[in-house]
Amino acid sequence: MYQVIDGKRISQEIKDELKEKMARLKARGENRCLAVIQVGADPASSVYVNNKKKACEYVGIESLSYGLPEETTEEELLKLIEELNGKGSVSGILVQLPLPGHINEEKILLAISPDKDVDGFHPVNVGNLSIGRPGFVSCTPAGVIQLLKRSGVEIQGKECVVLGRSNIVGKPMAMLLLRENGTVTVCHSRTENLREVTRRADILVVAIGKPKFIDESYVKEGAVVIDVGIHRDENNKLCGDVDFEKAAPHCSAITPVPGGVGPMTIAMLMSNCVG
Ligand code: NAP
Repeated sequence: MYQVIDGKRISQEIKDELKEKMARLKARGENRCLAVIQVGADPASSVYVNNKKKACEYVGIESLSYGLPEETTEEELLKLIEELNGKGSVSGILVQLPLPGHINEEKILLAISPDKDVDGFHPVNVGNLSIGRPGFVSCTPAGVIQLLKRSGVEIQGKECVVLGRSNIVGKPMAMLLLRENGTVTVCHSRTENLREVTRRADILVVAIGKPKFIDESYVKEGAVVIDVGIHRDENNKLCGDVDFEKAAPHCSAITPVPGGVGPMTIAMLMSNCVG
């Protein structure tokens, strides 16, 4: 029988710990404030932004909300970020992605001061992660590590295969597993004999952005499978990059979608904000 790793419960546990930590910080006169910037009114982005604001409220972090119109120019956005960088009362800055096409995302992310970059996307923080220095770590992969640790999955010495090499998930995921002393392999669209590689994994983290791509033929008997993907299937039901029904009976533990990695991303954002 396989264990279903409960991301909802674990994320709640983390938020409760952070709430207590925030109360202790406030008692010492310290505050945390997250500035959240959204450009345009993409409905999915609005849902994410609202969830982040609600999580801040729960944990006791102040949040400042900047809802800018779609036609905001790159210069205007850069000016706001510069202002927030210089504002002592703001401890974290988050720009909700994606940005409208006329704004260069990379330029915007580079403008956020690395010490307020709670998403962990700035090259300074990415570099710190790669050389083992402290800094902000990208929230989704950081959440995966917490899921594994808090479910009693040992990483040290294990064969870890990461499927996907994006800057926000795959690459930092590989780096974090390495930091935990896993033996790490990263796969991507040019990987040959993909099944052979994924079937070596004791821990398989899947972030390829393809619904139900991974079935039992990619999974070693008894592996731990973490599904980062999030999609809507043909019946408009949420599903991941892993075909849960087919893969789960072959795993020792697996994350569901929804209720696996998804809720962890916000919990780790809160963790980055509290510090
Ligand atoms: P992405 O930028 O599209 O990256 C996908 C990666 O998968 C790329 O490295 C790509 O390889 C690789 N890939 C694609 N097709 C492949 C194939 N057939 N075989 C092997 N590798 C293949 O995606 P992402 O931003 O990392 O996101 C991945 C998934 O996670 C998406 O479903 C996304 O919605 C989800 N996500 C969830 C959360 C959350 O909070 N739960 C957060 C972020 C992302 P190449 O590099 O060679 O193109």
